[in-house]
Amino acid sequence: MLPLDPQADLGRRAWIPCPRCADAEGCDPCGERRNCPTHWRYLLSNTGSLLHLQCPGCTHVWTHETGFGATRSLWDASPGA
Ligand SMILES: [Zn+2]
Ligand SMILES: [Zn+2]
Repeated sequence: MLPLDPQADLGRRAWIPCPRCADAEGCDPCGERRNCPTHWRYLLSNTGSLLHLQCPGCTHVWTHETGFGATRSLWDASPGA
């Protein structure tokens, strides 16, 4: 397992399914694309439409191309959350 990235911050989360552990499979909120309280990923950084993510469950790190310029609805960057 990789260590958690130093950039990992609970205040910056994204609701993107993890390609490695697929822990959100069969989950109701995830299936409905809602912001699930259980299955979320650390948003390490984002460059344009490319998100740099880390899964808190299996610590897998990957990039996710959203295909949009600004996808604020996908992630929660509220300070102090
Ligand atoms: Zn995972
Ligand atoms: Zn879920």
